[in-house]
Amino acid sequence: MTAAPSPEPGRDCPLCPRLHGFIAGWREREPGWFNAPVPTFLPPEGEDSVKLLIVGLAPGLRGANRTGRPFTGDYAGDLLYGTMIAHGLARGEFKARPDDGLQLVGTAITNAVRCVPPENKPVGAEIATCRTFLKPTIARFANLRAILTLGSIAHQSTVRALGERVAAIPFRHGGRQEAGGAALFSSYHCSRYNTNTGVLTEEMFVNVFKEIAAFLKT
Ligand code: URA
Repeated sequence: MTAAPSPEPGRDCPLCPRLHGFIAGWREREPGWFNAPVPTFLPPEGEDSVKLLIVGLAPGLRGANRTGRPFTGDYAGDLLYGTMIAHGLARGEFKARPDDGLQLVGTAITNAVRCVPPENKPVGAEIATCRTFLKPTIARFANLRAILTLGSIAHQSTVRALGERVAAIPFRHGGRQEAGGAALFSSYHCSRYNTNTGVLTEEMFVNVFKEIAAFLKT
């Protein structure tokens, strides 16, 4: 019998040599940082309570790569967690620290690429390799109803992880499409760059969450 594929890479995952080397350098420079593949953030009620999975791009160098929790420690997390709390998908206060006590509600958060990439840019081979973990991450949630992808890279990797064709399910901000038995919602990534340049406004992001919250009530 072969073991089921693991949804979480080991701390020293060697599958992407460039990312492995990048993290090794940061372990030397900043030994107090997390500096490893960032695990999926789960709600305290456990994986069977998860109805929504949010898929980000990859840990930020001084954000999730430093703190060890997705979207924790950089601007993207302020907008994401603030919006989630406002829509009942997280409870507590987000203080940008993994020990801030923030709890997810019926939701899990992961990244398409688990290791921090140089300049926030994973290459195609790294995105494909890390799908080894994205696929079983999606599969582990028996009661999953919806997935929200943040940005086109997360969207495309999620579509492929669901066994669908990217050409058939293109990225579109505010879109909702059926994929692999789940409702796939897409948003521009909530990065500071996107909000500073006006690609994504807070209102646009909030509207995506309004739709998801309404869908989850049906
Ligand atoms: N932090 C994450 O964990 N993921 C992102 O996509 C951006 C910041």
